[in-house]
Amino acid sequence: MTSLALLAAALEPVSRGWHVFPLRPGDKRPAGHAERLCPGTGRCAGGHLKPEQRATLDRDLVVSAWTTQPYNIGVATGPSGLLVVDLDLPKSEEQEGAPDGATSLQALCERARQTLPSTYQVRTPSGGRHLYFTQPAGMRLHSTAGRLGPRIDTRGWGGYVVAPGSTTPRGAYTVTNDRPPAALPDWLCDTLTARPRPQSAEYAMANSMKCRSGYSAAALRAEVRNVATAPDGTRNAVLLRAARALGRLVASGDLPREEVEEALSRAVAGNATEPQRYYDDVIARGLDWSIAHNPQRRTAA
Ligand SMILES: [Zn+2]
Repeated sequence: MTSLALLAAALEPVSRGWHVFPLRPGDKRPAGHAERLCPGTGRCAGGHLKPEQRATLDRDLVVSAWTTQPYNIGVATGPSGLLVVDLDLPKSEEQEGAPDGATSLQALCERARQTLPSTYQVRTPSGGRHLYFTQPAGMRLHSTAGRLGPRIDTRGWGGYVVAPGSTTPRGAYTVTNDRPPAALPDWLCDTLTARPRPQSAEYAMANSMKCRSGYSAAALRAEVRNVATAPDGTRNAVLLRAARALGRLVASGDLPREEVEEALSRAVAGNATEPQRYYDDVIARGLDWSIAHNPQRRTAA
């Protein structure tokens, strides 16, 4: 891609009303400094601006950024009103025959006896797919990792997607369906927002106990702080340790998994050197491990 082609590609999502920000050339990571290294000057004079806060619809800003460097293009999904379903392929080291994200999504649809509408779709260089949907009015759906099924992530508030026209050493992101994004189907929204069982009395009790004791809330805050301040070279280990520690409180019903995922995901996002999906995967693995190795709270039938 020439710089000019990337500039055109960066203006395309803007014309759809999607907020863009620059990613490092040939890379999936945001350009610019991490929060930890924030100089507190320039655009960060009023405090560090994360990519989601920097993402813009201003065509002049886009032109001036993309004419200085051949940046890849990030679309901040939250401000753009998007919820993108991210279907991945099994990583090579994973078990052969593991389902890919597309297969998991098909299984989810079959279980729910639902289909998905045709929608804007992008193919990733690894052969994954991004299905773009609009967020339901009045809702702020956050990013999730593995919540819908194996190798299905979603990108909403707190997340971003690499937009078409971007390239990595593995290849290009290409549009495979150019129609405008469909509305996120209600059933999929319900699946995303459903609290893990128990939904009602017991969950409320666990929640209020948490507030009363403050123990699990304090544990969550402490782990978030550890992750947000982890130096380079220790971040993955600190994140995995935090996920495993908090996973015990998820297993015991003291913390909702979604809350832990979001808190850790956001903590590491401000301190990231890897793509967010990489960290979300570490979080999901840590939680899964801990939940599998710790006693579960018995749930009412
Ligand atoms: Zn900054």
